[in-house]
Amino acid sequence: MERKVFQLGDIVQMKKQHPCGSNEMEIIRMGMDIRIKCVGCKHSVLIPRAKFEKNMKKVLRSAEENAES
Ligand SMILES: [Zn+2]
Repeated sequence: MERKVFQLGDIVQMKKQHPCGSNEMEIIRMGMDIRIKCVGCKHSVLIPRAKFEKNMKKVLRSAEENAES
């Protein structure tokens, strides 16, 4: 199984979609806890890193890839 790699600015897909209907979240703060912002409604939530890693499905768009283009 692939290890989950993510960084600040990445757009990630969560296992559960947000109540607004979007399941794309942007990582806006990294630390002991991770703050993600819903791309659909701009609502942000702070969640423990372990929980984030468990609930994150995959990285949709990497901040690094965006910078290269
Ligand atoms: Zn939302």
